[in-house]
Amino acid sequence: MIKEFKKSIGYICPYCSTITVRDVNLFDFSGSAVAEFLCSNSMCAHQNVRVSSKKDKYAISVNCPICGETHLYNIRKIAFWHNDFFVLRCSESGFGVLFIGADEKIKVEIAEQEKLINELEEDFKVSEELSIIFEAVEHINELAKSGSISCSCGGRNIAIEIDNDFITLFCRDCGIERKIKTDKASLEDLLKISTIVL
Ligand SMILES: [Zn+2]
Ligand SMILES: [Zn+2]
Ligand SMILES: [Zn+2]
Repeated sequence: MIKEFKKSIGYICPYCSTITVRDVNLFDFSGSAVAEFLCSNSMCAHQNVRVSSKKDKYAISVNCPICGETHLYNIRKIAFWHNDFFVLRCSESGFGVLFIGADEKIKVEIAEQEKLINELEEDFKVSEELSIIFEAVEHINELAKSGSISCSCGGRNIAIEIDNDFITLFCRDCGIERKIKTDKASLEDLLKISTIVL
């Protein structure tokens, strides 16, 4: 049985995010020399993938664009050439760092992964925003408990309300209110304050 010993490999540069897809054949990985694969962006050209041959396996090291580490894999040569498509993954995040197979398939898979990563980054931003709101509300509660929130009318009967845009403190005695925007900068300022006078 004659097999075609050539494939494409695809990887994402941790330094410049360029996607490189290139053809490799059996001879690229033969002999004692280490095959080194650079970022295809000529302005960057970092060496991101190294493959060396040892007995029936390839030792592959990949600079990970997700966690920043260099991951090492030992892959049986037969598995490398025989599988139509497979992905070596970051042990920390589970995302693919080296895509091996047909050129077109690699591009589709990398594009899908990047979409997923963008969505996760969005989620992360939302959870960061929420966590500072939780922190701010805790802080206000502490201040209220320790009697550090008061009103210029002399009242200490302060109510707290929160909606999407503002945390509102108001005095139940005289009705005066103070609004604090729920954006990152305002909340960070709030966390530094130890007394509030309405
Ligand atoms: Zn690069
Ligand atoms: Zn990683
Ligand atoms: Zn008041």
